Amino acid sequence: MRVLCYLCILFLTERGTNERDAKGLNFTEEDFFDKYRIVWKKESARKIDVEKQKVLLSSGEETGYDKLLIASGANSFIPPVGDFRKAKNVFGLRHLKDAKGIDEMAKDAEHILIVGSGLVGLDAAYGLLEQGKMVSIVEMAPQILPVQLDAHAALEYQKRFEKAGAKFYLGCKAQEALCTEDGMIRKVTFDTGESVECDMIIVAAGVRPAVEFLDNSKIAVERGVCVDEYMCTNVPNVYAAGDVAGLSGIWPNAMKQGKTAAQNMCGALIKYEDRFAMKNTMNFFGLTTLCLGLIREEDGDVVFWEEDSKNYRRAIVRDGNVVGILLQGDISNTGIWQYIIKNKVNVGDIGKDLFRLTFADFYGTGERGKYVWTYES
Ligand SMILES: Cc1cc2nc3c(=O)[nH]c(=O)nc-3n(C[C@H](O)[C@H](O)[C@H](O)COP(=O)(O)OP(=O)(O)OC[C@H]3O[C@@H](n4cnc5c(N)ncnc54)[C@H](O)[C@@H]3O)c2cc1C
Repeated sequence: MRVLCYLCILFLTERGTNERDAKGLNFTEEDFFDKYRIVWKKESARKIDVEKQKVLLSSGEETGYDKLLIASGANSFIPPVGDFRKAKNVFGLRHLKDAKGIDEMAKDAEHILIVGSGLVGLDAAYGLLEQGKMVSIVEMAPQILPVQLDAHAALEYQKRFEKAGAKFYLGCKAQEALCTEDGMIRKVTFDTGESVECDMIIVAAGVRPAVEFLDNSKIAVERGVCVDEYMCTNVPNVYAAGDVAGLSGIWPNAMKQGKTAAQNMCGALIKYEDRFAMKNTMNFFGLTTLCLGLIREEDGDVVFWEEDSKNYRRAIVRDGNVVGILLQGDISNTGIWQYIIKNKVNVGDIGKDLFRLTFADFYGTGERGKYVWTYES
């Protein structure tokens, strides 16, 4: 059976601080391709003919398949702000070429503007601050890390970044950015009227699934390539996994989807179950945060929170079930939360402080018999 899998490996400089080079980013064994009898065609897929079960490659070669996995990931989204899309000093951050371009230009750049304060934007900011650069960050939400954290937890990171020299422009959007004669943008103006001067701009404002080569292929695409619970697309023998499927944007989920798709391509019937579509762990300046499930509450949800000088904890409870947990500082109790959320353990009448629950509360068949469960690591 011929199985084609369009994937490559994402190369990134960890934290932007040159902690790793391109070689160090390679996480496969040296003999990976030989060992697993994989033929790596170093080309782009240009077109898929699902009737003939063939893929047209950039070299012009056509290659047939019995089963096809689309795992083309996503591309940085550069918004159409002024000359962002044509300026020489504007970078996305997705591929090795982006990391190399940023590295090269950062040598001479003093003031760097980052658009977007999600994990990728802040990772870049952290690396550049470590290199002594002046870093400004513009974010359209009123807080940093708006997708990952609530405002309170986000403020802790904001303070640490500011202490390290970063300047934030929150609740505003980049609006005007024109190239000078040398093809560079030297100034960006926000919709608030404020502006910053810059030598380089990194746009970390989201990604879009890499699906251009699927145009006119009959493979359905909405937020990403549409897949069923077996990671199969609407076209027989064609599967999709990872960021291109648009179900999640994190590595462990991409891997799990790839594995599920592979098993099904080999004849198994295994459903992909996304335990935590939203799961993030982060550590900046020594402060760790873990979030599972929902971050924002809806009408009717109950929010429990507590804080001391080193920790902040916040749980969202809906109809007695914990649907989201955020632990900042000490994250050692994560196993309990994973289990409670995954198994929808009802904690509505547990009669104990939610944040003091231990495994002992869930063993035995006494009055808390309904909470009996076994620990799953
Ligand atoms: C800067 C950054 C930091 C991140 N940090 C984390 C993190 O700390 N933790 C975490 O869990 N996740 C992180 N992520 C997200 C994580 O990298 C992705 O979720 C994961 O890489 C998705 O894997 P994938 O195989 O779907 O796509 P990718 O890893 O993007 O791989 C897709 C590959 O397909 C190739 N390709 C695209 N189109 C074609 C084509 N037409 N023909 C042939 N090849 C093609 C691309 O070149 C690419 O190499 C980060 C992402 C970025 C950008």
